[in-house]
Amino acid sequence: MTLRPILIHPDPRLKKPCTPVDAITDEVRALADDMLATMYDAPGIGLAAPQVGVLKRILTMDCMKAPEPPRPMVLINPEIVWKSAETSVYEEGCLSIPDQYAEVTRPAEVRVRWLALDGSVQEEHFTGLWATCVQHEIDHLDGRLFIDYLGPIKRQLITRKMEKLKRDRARSA
Ligand code: ZN
Repeated sequence: MTLRPILIHPDPRLKKPCTPVDAITDEVRALADDMLATMYDAPGIGLAAPQVGVLKRILTMDCMKAPEPPRPMVLINPEIVWKSAETSVYEEGCLSIPDQYAEVTRPAEVRVRWLALDGSVQEEHFTGLWATCVQHEIDHLDGRLFIDYLGPIKRQLITRKMEKLKRDRARSA
């Protein structure tokens, strides 16, 4: 298991639609393991493959809160098959946009279908934080970030901060 570096916005790889996984190979299993480890290490509750530079439709998530036991999930080729008309607002953040948070409105509940690592088709109804998280991560697979829901001024402000963060990191590396 290897921790993979997380790409920081702006990066062209975070803006591209990802391609479906056509076979669950050892490479895919290794990527899923690495993504879970990277997500827990960050720490974060969700991670999408493009955030580690792999443009494939894979995401990991675990929105359990201690003392609940962890629930590491790997979703391959996830699809939203139903969304509620009712919306909810959540203050979102992103491992690719560190320390920036903003309120985003999304459907409050979604039903998602995906392939599990064993190749079985799974379907689940997500509510609360799980619903927000899975939609945020599926957005990543379509090249969309939570800041794309904000107004242009706020989005530009955050992007400038991230450009500065990347410059500072490059200088101190
Ligand atoms: Zn994110």
